[in-house]
Amino acid sequence: MEDNVWYKDGLRFKCTECGQCCSGQPGYVWVTEEEIAALAAALHMPIDAFKRKYLRQKNNRYALIEKRTQSSTDCIFLKDKKCTVYMARPKQCRTFPWWQENLNSKEGWNLAAQGCEGISEDAPLVPYTQIIQMLRS
Ligand code: SF4
Ligand code: SF4
Repeated sequence: MEDNVWYKDGLRFKCTECGQCCSGQPGYVWVTEEEIAALAAALHMPIDAFKRKYLRQKNNRYALIEKRTQSSTDCIFLKDKKCTVYMARPKQCRTFPWWQENLNSKEGWNLAAQGCEGISEDAPLVPYTQIIQMLRS
């Protein structure tokens, strides 16, 4: 990892738990077999039953299903703007907004900020070393 990246001085972010990144446009929250097992355990369900109830398959991968509301498309586990499986949420959720696509450029980061109120000049500074840890996790 280069030390001269545009965010070497850190970036400002603190999750407000607004739930916005769990709803909006349709998309995919991908889950690995390990994450599926953790989610099934959190819900006290057999893995096969969990897969049938909560997952869809695309290109040999599993993703969480979504539910349509009047105004948006929500993750199936979003309820009252909160994640109901928070402790077992997949890596894709745990690492947002520290995704490579958001960090490739300042423009990418600003784009992510449009859908995430936690990315804000008022938020605490997250140091570069911590960002790198999240990227590599
Ligand atoms: S949109 Fe941003 S601030 Fe809101 S829950 Fe997601 S990560 Fe947190
Ligand atoms: S699993 Fe939880 S954190 Fe991830 S998208 Fe669904 S509601 Fe949001």
